[in-house]
Amino acid sequence: MTAGALKTENGARAPLAGATRAQIRRALHEIGVPERELNMRASQLWRWIYHRGAREFADMRNIARPLLEKLAARCSLARPEIVTEQVSADGTRKWLLRMAPAHRFDKGAEIECVYIPESDRGTLCVSSQVGCTLNCSFCHTGTMPLVRNLSAAEIVGQVLVARDRLGDFPGGVPPADGRTPRGEGVRAVSNVVFMGMGEPLYNFDAVRDAIAVLTDGEGLSLSKRRITVSTSGVVPEIKRLGAECGTMLAVSLHATKDALRDRLVPLNRKYPIEALIEACREYPGASNARRITFEYVMLKGVNDSLAEARALVRLLKGLPAKINLIPFNPWPGSAYECSDWERIERFSEIVFNAGYASPVRTPRGRDILAACGQLKSESEKLRARARMMLEESLAVGQD
Ligand code: SAH
Ligand code: SF4
Repeated sequence: MTAGALKTENGARAPLAGATRAQIRRALHEIGVPERELNMRASQLWRWIYHRGAREFADMRNIARPLLEKLAARCSLARPEIVTEQVSADGTRKWLLRMAPAHRFDKGAEIECVYIPESDRGTLCVSSQVGCTLNCSFCHTGTMPLVRNLSAAEIVGQVLVARDRLGDFPGGVPPADGRTPRGEGVRAVSNVVFMGMGEPLYNFDAVRDAIAVLTDGEGLSLSKRRITVSTSGVVPEIKRLGAECGTMLAVSLHATKDALRDRLVPLNRKYPIEALIEACREYPGASNARRITFEYVMLKGVNDSLAEARALVRLLKGLPAKINLIPFNPWPGSAYECSDWERIERFSEIVFNAGYASPVRTPRGRDILAACGQLKSESEKLRARARMMLEESLAVGQD
């Protein structure tokens, strides 16, 4: 297989939904489209896949039938499969998605993706990895034993699934619950945040390629200002994110002193607070109109004293910042509790009085465990499954 080509082992059809322009060109080349037509055909396919949301090659009316037949025989427009969908009383939706198997022993990794509708926007929270290697002590994802990177196509695939399901492509029908924001120029999925499972900056290349697909003006056309990448603080990659992607940045800070942050976010031992703040100061495009979000999870008796609120304000002085206070979401076996509501309010008052907007992130979808860090809640089932997948992938490696 050529580097960067789509996987077609074992006769599997090359997946085009979620593919980059280069991958689409390569797939066309592999089915015999002549060099001189490649750009034009790739553009046609691109618009059908990303602008129109086509799910069948047969719908592509401006492409000649013989080529459509070849495409249908050798390529696929399949998306990640929806295994379950849960809809919260507040309209939040959580999907468990199964990725297409990458090889014949692969049963398909499962990840979760959450959609949060508000009156003027709809935010999709996507995963960038299956699990996470970083082991933040308050995060459920960090306890999952198996980790693999998602491909760019698997990341974009989450957006395609959401748009299909929410009737967000031309001619689509929105779900009957009426929760999806609608109106002239309003899209059901208007914003994407990389705040699901995984550390996006540990899967930089795929995240960068996915962002290029999402922001391409001939396709899904999301503005870079409506895409936010959240990181626990991979300092060298923050610079690359700014230079190569230009999206909004969110940083999971959670503490103002290294001793405590070392415990909460172990990556801090490698990239301590000072280096992290420095990387934020240098983040290109950060301005009052494009603030960096600092996430701060409220852990009772751990990081929620009023002195810490004041230290937070001092630490971020001079930075164009927004502070997002996140009520901690407990999970079975977690060692922390969420701060009392009154404490969260007093903490947020200090931050607010220092001139920062400090929305307390309203817990959404609590009834369906849709909160950050809580995705993939049936951990025991997953563990068994993940072990099985790991064994299988090792077996493949020995072939
Ligand atoms: N790995 C990236 C992005 C995914 S986590 C990061 O850490 O930034 C998205 C956000 O959810 C992060 O701010 C993370 O610290 C927070 N989070 C994780 N577990 C949580 C929990 N149990 N309750 C509340 N927030 C949590
Ligand atoms: Fe990974 Fe983010 Fe969870 Fe930390 S908070 S373990 S970086 S997903």
